[in-house]
Amino acid sequence: LNRPHYIGRFAPSPSGPLHQGSLVAAMASYLDVKAHHGRWLVRIEDVDEGRSVPGAAETMLALLRSLGMDWDGDVVWQSQRKQLYQTAADKLGAHVYPCGCNRREIADSRLGTAPDGSAIYPGTCRNGLAPGKTMRSLRVRVPDMRVPDAAGTAGIINSRAIPAGSPATTADIPATPAVAGLIAFTDRAAGYMAQHLATESGDFVLKRADGFWAYQLAVVVDDAEQGVTDIVRGADLIDSTPRQIYLQHLLGVPTPRYLHVPVVRNADGEKLSKQTGALAVAPDNEGQALRALHAAAAFLQLPVAQTDSISTFWQAAITAWAHRVGLSCGPV
Ligand code: GLU
Repeated sequence: LNRPHYIGRFAPSPSGPLHQGSLVAAMASYLDVKAHHGRWLVRIEDVDEGRSVPGAAETMLALLRSLGMDWDGDVVWQSQRKQLYQTAADKLGAHVYPCGCNRREIADSRLGTAPDGSAIYPGTCRNGLAPGKTMRSLRVRVPDMRVPDAAGTAGIINSRAIPAGSPATTADIPATPAVAGLIAFTDRAAGYMAQHLATESGDFVLKRADGFWAYQLAVVVDDAEQGVTDIVRGADLIDSTPRQIYLQHLLGVPTPRYLHVPVVRNADGEKLSKQTGALAVAPDNEGQALRALHAAAAFLQLPVAQTDSISTFWQAAITAWAHRVGLSCGPV
């Protein structure tokens, strides 16, 4: 099979208009693709149909075009790919089980929260729905984390994701993933990251109580099905990456390379929301488009001199990015 050596993607959720934060993520993935002479795919992540705003995806696509960001191939819509997610869930077989617990019951078990704020699941329905419960969601079983202590007794340790640096400096990370169910990867920016799913997410949801497939499953299935080799996205998703790598292992699909870029925050330190930070760029207004592009490049700390056209902006930005990531050849 003759696959391009680099396939990247931008995968926005259409819950509102494109904002400066999503433009930064889009720009980083686009620049990395162009610097590697790869293909850039756009996938609309409207799997959570309750949060999708009608027309938002079309507006985003038109804005990408007016910013000079053209994608390769057809745009893919998650809402039209449910059969793929079902097939993947079927393939996971006994790793998946029905769960009848509601949010309050899970929070009441007080195991703490995963980095994304969801309560860690205590495993109540792991061996069958508890009596009197009906199925609400589907969960995937994560490996138990048992680390033998000096006396040979299995114990549980709790680790946090480790930012850049060497795992060797962190005494509580066991060396053998097989012993501990540790999922580790090397982010191109943050360096070595590791999580124990057992204590940092617990068995997580693949199909939600509202009947929609969960982001974690859909993103893994789609990236694999589309042959994505490189994921460049906002650092708010770095804590989801170990869950996604775990699903890749279970499904027997390759793990892409990852690069998580900083997230744009407002003055209060909050991530920009689609509701508040809409980009004010009217189609065909090149001046506004250039201002938005230069602002995003500045946020990424790319040295790009002021340019007077969108195409010269991209030439300069691609060259700057190629230098940044250590590619000796510039764009063609
Ligand atoms: N759809 C996600 C978002 O808009 C991004 C998913 C991803 O890049 O993996 O935040």
